[in-house]
Amino acid sequence: MPSFIDTHCHIDTILERTGGTAELLFEQMEPLPEAIVHVACDPNDFSWGKRFLLKKTINGVKIYGAFGLHPLVAERYDEQAEAGILESLKLPDVLALGEIGLDYHYKEYNADLQKKVFLRQLEIGLKAGLPFVFHLREAEDDAFEILQQIDGENIKAHIHCYTSTADFAKKLLSLKGNYFFGFTGAVTFDKTATIREAAAAIPLDKILLETDAPYLAPVPFRGKICTPAMIPNIAQVLTDIKKVSIDEILKVCRANTEKMYGI
Ligand SMILES: [Zn+2]
Repeated sequence: MPSFIDTHCHIDTILERTGGTAELLFEQMEPLPEAIVHVACDPNDFSWGKRFLLKKTINGVKIYGAFGLHPLVAERYDEQAEAGILESLKLPDVLALGEIGLDYHYKEYNADLQKKVFLRQLEIGLKAGLPFVFHLREAEDDAFEILQQIDGENIKAHIHCYTSTADFAKKLLSLKGNYFFGFTGAVTFDKTATIREAAAAIPLDKILLETDAPYLAPVPFRGKICTPAMIPNIAQVLTDIKKVSIDEILKVCRANTEKMYGI
């Protein structure tokens, strides 16, 4: 099997559920990814993330990171949080700013605050010339308006855990800049035909593989704790959608990861 990278996972949250150390987790992982991108998106998790990145490699798996403030904790964005993000972005194995964005799924969301925090982090990332990880959930219109407005000529963004429609994907692909779409285990579920329709509409050279572990374990592992070893199960579903072999899916997505993150 060609090598693969999990472009988005939360190792600290996996360990909270499995217990044990990161070393043990990667020792038991089968098949082993070539690398993983650990995403720290709550200021409370930044110091764990920074310490984790110091390990560099665990059981042959290269460790990379992304730091940013998630829209569901937008109220935690303050000077200290921003300083933490800026500091982390200087670390050698931090590849991107994220996940940042908009999430209107829960009733009590504060759209104004989320937009403000999203825009502020967009400004920071554009200034630093860094790629972004976007979390966009049930906020298509506001997200599109913001992305249309920013000076996005050179923007590179991984729209993580894509669960929106084919139409929204086409709109994003029409924007200036370089957008990649991450597919998780959600694309394998019985009830997610619209996500598979979106995957069909998005060119394969714009697709990234990610688990969002420990969440969203793909079929046949539903209900279990997801780990980066489940990337091939996500790739498998894409073989039906794209009518190419799993080796081809893994190879193209690996090349896309290089285009997006430079690794
Ligand atoms: Zn995530």
